[in-house]
Amino acid sequence: MPVYRRVGIGLLMQESNSFAPHPTTWEDFAVQGVRVGVAAPLTVDGTEWGGMVYGCHEAGLVPVPLVRAWALAGGPVTPDVVARLATALAQGLDDAGPLDGLLLALHGAMIASDDTDPEVAFLQMVRNRWPRIPLGITCDLHAHLHPTKLRLADFCIAYQTYPHDDTYATGCRAAATMARVLNGEVRPVMAHRHRPILFPPDISGTAAPGCLAPIANWARAREKEAGVLHISYCPVQPWLDVPNTGSSVVVVTDGDWMRAEALAAEGAALLEAQRPAVRARQALSLDALPGLLQSARPPIVLGDIGDGTAGGGSGDHTGILTVLLAHPLSCPAYVPLVDAAGVRRTWPLTVGAIVDLTVGATLDPRWSSPVRIHGRVVARGDGPYILEGPYLRGHRMTVGRWVRVAVGTVHVLLTERAGLTSDPAFFTMTGATLGEAGVIVVKSPLLFRRAFSDIARTVAVVDTLGPTASRFAALPFRRISRPMFPLDDDWKDQS
Ligand SMILES: [Zn+2]
Repeated sequence: MPVYRRVGIGLLMQESNSFAPHPTTWEDFAVQGVRVGVAAPLTVDGTEWGGMVYGCHEAGLVPVPLVRAWALAGGPVTPDVVARLATALAQGLDDAGPLDGLLLALHGAMIASDDTDPEVAFLQMVRNRWPRIPLGITCDLHAHLHPTKLRLADFCIAYQTYPHDDTYATGCRAAATMARVLNGEVRPVMAHRHRPILFPPDISGTAAPGCLAPIANWARAREKEAGVLHISYCPVQPWLDVPNTGSSVVVVTDGDWMRAEALAAEGAALLEAQRPAVRARQALSLDALPGLLQSARPPIVLGDIGDGTAGGGSGDHTGILTVLLAHPLSCPAYVPLVDAAGVRRTWPLTVGAIVDLTVGATLDPRWSSPVRIHGRVVARGDGPYILEGPYLRGHRMTVGRWVRVAVGTVHVLLTERAGLTSDPAFFTMTGATLGEAGVIVVKSPLLFRRAFSDIARTVAVVDTLGPTASRFAALPFRRISRPMFPLDDDWKDQS
């Protein structure tokens, strides 16, 4: 008789940002859909969940849904969120019945207002129930990894790419490794190295010229060697103001702890070697933007570094919009802007109506000022959009109601909630024709690059300040351990 091994799969994911203006509440999870137990469909989408489901089937394992809960990046989650997620996971475990293994997709950088790492509590709960069950975790490349968390898992696998185009593949890899563990083929051991370095996301891509390219190339080469299962390099999400934050390398080998340790040290040295690239970082200022608009080939895709909604920005920074209104192009410019009050005011109007509004900087007035617009309602709608990927392809994203207001050629895409504008699906939802655009503004420092590679003739990122700023010195860090590069350049080599 065949043996059907049952593997529980769960996804509990939110990326927290200490500098975001508001906490992340249960509503932020609920609006995107929280599913527990069999209510979580075993859909093969482009997320880790989908990869785990497919990977389990491929390996002859039976995936058992536990819980699926995801919220957009934002402020630290409330204690209520932590309690509800723990309850949902416990319910999923109760409903699952006997399990042979467990795979959990975590972001890896969730913090709570009263806890620097609530993911530890989720893992501890699993361990309290099943001290010895094989437990694999997957996480974002921007995870905050530390020994307290890692020792609760048998193996940890992070995304290999930034922009993240391997969310699905990460889930597949985790399921394949779980199968090998359950078959007795491998016995994972993990080593971890921490470095007090924060990498500005706009320059830390994993493909050249990104400053993570050397370590990504090194890791892929090392993983071809016998006994090396996974190498993860995580430049932490740099806006966590918690004491033990920093970049890390995690190496999983088949039973060879010494080798894992040696490789982790090698990887950490490669992270350190990128400090000159961080020091040399250059980015386009808002003052220099008009010059770029005049000279660059459209469509120009502009990343708004400081207001990245995939990292905790509120999506209502008006800096780039202000420049575009003052320097309009002949082709349309599409500018997303979160402004719930603006949507509420324009929603009752018919398409074609003329509106006079003051928009932006409503959620986070610290970094930009509201802007007055006089334009025409050209489209509006309500409903989720489905991400085209490669990041989270197939994921359903809700931004509430939206209204597109045209101010000359500048189209302001007002939404009630923040969403992922790093995916073209956001714009096509509003009827925007991206191929004919002059400018497309995305609230993202780098994640958008792969998704817009077929559309953009010019790509630039604008060095705005906000919760996801790359100029870390502008942010009010208070709790992180110092020295921390590049905030402190007296950092000593620790390898
Ligand atoms: Zn990330």
